[in-house]
Amino acid sequence: MLSSRGGPVYLLMLAAGLFLAGLLPKSSLGNLHPDRSADLVFAGSSTYAPFQWLDAQGQARGFVIDLQDSMAQLGGVKAEHRLTAWESALSAVESGEADAVALFASERRSQQYDFTNPFYYQFHSIFSHTDGERFSSLVALSGQTVAVTAAAYAQEKLEEEHPDVRLLPVESERACILAVHTREADACLEATLSATRHAADFDVRRTSSPFWPRAYVFAVRKGNSDLLEWLNFQLAAMQSDGTYFAIYQKWLPELEWRKPTIADHLTTLAWIIAPILLLALLGLIGAWVLKRQVARRTSQLTTELRSRRRLEKQLRDQAEYDAATGLPNRPAFIGDLERRLSEAPDWSPTLVFLRLLSLDSVTSTFGRTGHEELIKDFGLHLEHLGFPLVSHLGTGTFALITPQGLTPEDIMARLTTSFYIEGLYVDPGVVMGISIGRADDTGKDSAPTHAEELLRRAVTAYASAHAKGNAWCVYTPQLQPDPRDLILLHDFRQHGTRDMRLVYQPKLDLASGRIREAEALIRWEHPRLGFISPVHFIPLLEKAGMITRLTRWVIDEAIEELARYRTRDPDFGISVNIAAQDLADGAGLVEFLRDKRPASSLQGLRLEITETGVIQDHDHTQRVIAALREIGIDCAVDDFGTGYASLSYLSRFAIEEVKLDRSFIRKMRENRRDYAIVASTIELAHTLGLKVTAEGIEDQATLEALAELGCDTAQGYVISHPTAADEVYRMIESIT
Ligand code: C2E
Ligand code: MG
Ligand code: MG
Repeated sequence: MLSSRGGPVYLLMLAAGLFLAGLLPKSSLGNLHPDRSADLVFAGSSTYAPFQWLDAQGQARGFVIDLQDSMAQLGGVKAEHRLTAWESALSAVESGEADAVALFASERRSQQYDFTNPFYYQFHSIFSHTDGERFSSLVALSGQTVAVTAAAYAQEKLEEEHPDVRLLPVESERACILAVHTREADACLEATLSATRHAADFDVRRTSSPFWPRAYVFAVRKGNSDLLEWLNFQLAAMQSDGTYFAIYQKWLPELEWRKPTIADHLTTLAWIIAPILLLALLGLIGAWVLKRQVARRTSQLTTELRSRRRLEKQLRDQAEYDAATGLPNRPAFIGDLERRLSEAPDWSPTLVFLRLLSLDSVTSTFGRTGHEELIKDFGLHLEHLGFPLVSHLGTGTFALITPQGLTPEDIMARLTTSFYIEGLYVDPGVVMGISIGRADDTGKDSAPTHAEELLRRAVTAYASAHAKGNAWCVYTPQLQPDPRDLILLHDFRQHGTRDMRLVYQPKLDLASGRIREAEALIRWEHPRLGFISPVHFIPLLEKAGMITRLTRWVIDEAIEELARYRTRDPDFGISVNIAAQDLADGAGLVEFLRDKRPASSLQGLRLEITETGVIQDHDHTQRVIAALREIGIDCAVDDFGTGYASLSYLSRFAIEEVKLDRSFIRKMRENRRDYAIVASTIELAHTLGLKVTAEGIEDQATLEALAELGCDTAQGYVISHPTAADEVYRMIESIT
């Protein structure tokens, strides 16, 4: 069990620099937003010292705040810290006002959030009144009123496992201790470190040993995988280049903070009194002992000199070797690798960065001893494998150089073994990132030395393997995450469709030769990043769960434009693309459209659904399309032919039109197979009562061929590129 000082050795090891220096390229994206206060908003509690709190000047301070600032700085983005009551902090992330929050990982929370790798471990304790019963275990709390911070991990855990405890949820960690002080609650259950500090200000003290070791992580809204991946990269980068270690060192006295005890006061007193006593003694003894004193001092000096030499040697060893495993540490590994790289310019090393994924569960299950044992045993195992270079970088992360010619499978086979920890066989759960070859041919992207660049690449590969749930990944330059996506998501959340507009691509009615319809297509002209293709940002917004907002805006704009078109041609139609996610929330979409006033404004509006979107959830989609038809909205199947649905299958849905994908149209005149597909699709569609539009027609000959095949409508550059609505008006008028 840990001491109350909360500074266990293994926490120090956690901080001991997971990975290596100069991990990821430092982007300059921060300067892209001089007009904005922050790219990334971190939520948190305002009274959770030393992790995060607001000081007297209202400044955010704390260990986690420093970590967040460093992550943002490394990633080239601006961070804002929004510290409030804990429950509001969680709501801010849920509502999207904030992007991430540091919290204890838990089963229940994992249903709402996705978690980064752990960056710290914390414990909980019970706090009781100094003049009351000392509650020392969870069992003793049965039937008692126990204060907890609302929405905190302790509340969740007690609700699940100790329903017999009467909970008193309060706003903050401090309010929790106060409730015990005022005897509103019999006890309080809180994270040890922060609550111990608050308790020092009241008649409250810690009365249990720390328990519930929990991983402390950053949480993001479920499904926000881009941000999650980015945070994991920044954490890895920070841990590797020593920033994490420096921040941990800075906060160490606070993280080990405790209320001064009587023994501490006595020690301080002793320090003050001791020299005075010594002086008095010296005065009494007088000059006759001077000679003896000199002799004693000389002997003292000799002893001091000896112990200093011993200390120097110890420090030298510590500077090169890791205390947990006895393996070389990060600086020694980098130094050695750098020397070998410069001595042998033809040497092409394979560097493996690996992490023991089981470490978190071993720590939760067996506590500090199991944690240390697993790291030590794995280190020993690596040493016995006889690789040319092996290092423990800290907290169960290792780096090694393998002998030439080993495949990733070979390396994994050698590393895979189980360890006997506290009476159980444990699989260490190795995940590897591999960097093959030298970095001097392709240039050192961002790390200060060649060795650091190789390690940075291996860590990048590791992060990718971990994100995808693979056992390993070999580095390629494509693995670098695109930080621009994060900016796009943030800007959309902040400014919505501010920099977006719609263009319209006319559709030619082949029987009459007139333009009777157009497709609305979105354009995003980003103020700094320039033109962003919808092919890029639509899936991004879908993944982040934000597409509905865009779709609704597009529909509103299109309806407005439609009214203008219909003053000239009362039958004019506009089609709008909708995403699979809009279909999934079909009831919401139908309701949104049904609320449009006047209802006649929907006449002529069509929705295009991709083929894959249609077939995703057959029964549900069928209901949504039928409901749309009831309110007078036709649906078309877009990009037909790119999925695996047959026309007869699609005809079971209440759709009006199929849009043949441009991949068939492009080569239909040269490719007999494509021609046959186009011809038979048109024929069969007509038999099934469906209208056919051909997309992506780029030349006159293809247009004529389609007209001959009886295709109903044509769309493509040969008729017009997507363009401003006014331009389409001019075209309509010039044709009619
Ligand atoms: P889509 O619905 O199949 O739209 C047709 C795409 O083909 C458009 O690309 C259009 O510019 C392009 N195109 C038209 N004629 C030709 C041609 O002759 N040759 C070639 N090579 N291309 C042609 P765009 O505008 O980049 O849009 C791409 C996709 O993005 C759309 O495919 C659609 O799936 C999606 N999208 C566009 N706007 C929206 C929107 O407002 N909401 C949603 N959910 N998706 C949208
Ligand atoms: Mg379309
Ligand atoms: Mg299409």
